[in-house]
Amino acid sequence: QLSKRLETVVSYIPAGSRIADIGSDHAYLPCYALRKGIAETAIAGEVVKGPYLSAEKQVKDACLQDKIEVRLGNGLEVVAPGEVDCITIAGMGGALIATILEEGKDKLASVKRLILQPNVSAKSIRVWLLQNGWELTAEEIIEEDGKVYEILTADRGESDRPYSEDERQKELLLGPFLMQERNEAFRKKWTQESAQWKNIMSNMEKAEQTDALNERKAELMDKIQMVEEVLSK
Ligand code: SAM
Repeated sequence: QLSKRLETVVSYIPAGSRIADIGSDHAYLPCYALRKGIAETAIAGEVVKGPYLSAEKQVKDACLQDKIEVRLGNGLEVVAPGEVDCITIAGMGGALIATILEEGKDKLASVKRLILQPNVSAKSIRVWLLQNGWELTAEEIIEEDGKVYEILTADRGESDRPYSEDERQKELLLGPFLMQERNEAFRKKWTQESAQWKNIMSNMEKAEQTDALNERKAELMDKIQMVEEVLSK
């Protein structure tokens, strides 16, 4: 039984894909995608020895060694150019996911779809996609076991879609699709974030007021305002 979070990631893999799952840990995702007949082949990449060994064991136990290759290495280093057409990266921070994509740019020529599930800072990913010729084509936000997860899907595209001119900062922070839908998980996430920021702001009031602190307070205020505007719709 795969988690709802990873199942949502898999639901965006085009049928017949050759996938690479980076930071695969137990290789649950590629094993599931192969068993369901969604992916044709998979590479499970891991940078840490322990998770790499558990991925190997999982693949062997599922008798999928001829379809899934487990490889030890950093980010997209484990993929050869032209080898895959879909990449999944789940369960890491958004900034780390963006770094992995940036450092592995030369491996992306054959890749048609990216499916990314950041634990925090989805904004870093939206910014990277927009600046690197990827169009954000779908977003989901779900709740599982009390935690909220965002799943971002991108296909190749040079346009500014789906962003607007005047709402761009808001859309990059909250997600252009997610802020339209504003489902329960979305409301929960941003109500919590905004409460945290307010808490930080009130602690800042107690500290010595410096220029740097004032700048930080203004940034937080902007974010709180953006979130409140969207939540009040
Ligand atoms: N993708 C799985 C999931 O979503 O359930 C596992 C997530 S786990 C929290 C993150 C995994 O990413 C860890 O096993 C870690 O070793 C691996 N990882 C972190 N940085 C990595 C990198 N630069 N390249 C490959 N794997 C990485």
